[in-house]
Amino acid sequence: METSQKIHYLSKQIETARSNLEKLDESKSNFVAVAAHELKTPLTLIDGYTSMLIDVIIKQNNNDLLVYTNGILNGSKRLRAIIEDMLDVSLLENNLLSLNYQPYWLNRIVEFVLLELSPISKGRDISINIQEFEGYRLINYGDSEKLVQLFKNLLINAIKFTPDGGKINLSGRKLPGFIEVLISDTGIGINLEDQTLIFEKFNRLGNIALHSSSKTNFKGGGPGLGLPIAKGIAEAHGGSIWVESSGYSETDFPGSTFHILLPLLDKIPENKK
Ligand code: ADP
Repeated sequence: METSQKIHYLSKQIETARSNLEKLDESKSNFVAVAAHELKTPLTLIDGYTSMLIDVIIKQNNNDLLVYTNGILNGSKRLRAIIEDMLDVSLLENNLLSLNYQPYWLNRIVEFVLLELSPISKGRDISINIQEFEGYRLINYGDSEKLVQLFKNLLINAIKFTPDGGKINLSGRKLPGFIEVLISDTGIGINLEDQTLIFEKFNRLGNIALHSSSKTNFKGGGPGLGLPIAKGIAEAHGGSIWVESSGYSETDFPGSTFHILLPLLDKIPENKK
């Protein structure tokens, strides 16, 4: 009798704790969405006035001031990108991300991203090699804008966590109903216990205080949203992402391989038209 009362009491307590946790998680997501939205408004003002200031400075031919104001504009661009990421994460968490299905070609998506990233990889002397595979040039269906975001996030990370002079390789294979893409780097690698953690939002490894502030420098800082967004985009398409690495070492550089699995479709899915 006493034992059964105890069990009843404990299970009630567990239920209350679970429901409190759910509420906390919901209010955290709401906070992220509201904060991100409210931050965008003043940022638009900063951008607008800085652009006007730049016009005046150009007319006055004052190069020193131009450097400073371009600095403000670059800073606000970075802040905007972080806010956009926070909004994307809150959309994904609340299952509100809607995909705009169109035909796409994986090779074009990869080429587009690499074109944008090439000044950064060249600046860090990192070579990016594409190993063509069956399915790389096939027509497929998905949200090309979101897929650009997915590949950009993974390739920026590969650059960021690989020391200067390293190598990145993109390869893949055609599977029944799927295309698997592999992005390997010769970077610092990831410990086994962290390999699922990094796909959770705001999770970055290492000492945050030691992170460089640039987004693309070796071990450059970031809010820890790139992988959760990439994973959310892959999953919204019916695919997945995971990582393989033999561990973390800043002396041996074991590298990491990210696997991206995307469905291979022959038309836009009926429920996505
Ligand atoms: P961010 O890059 O903004 O820190 P991400 O969500 O993109 O956030 O990545 C989370 C963490 O996963 C990174 O801070 C890093 O510790 C680890 N990580 C991601 N990609 C790699 C990689 N290619 N090699 C080693 N570590 C990585």
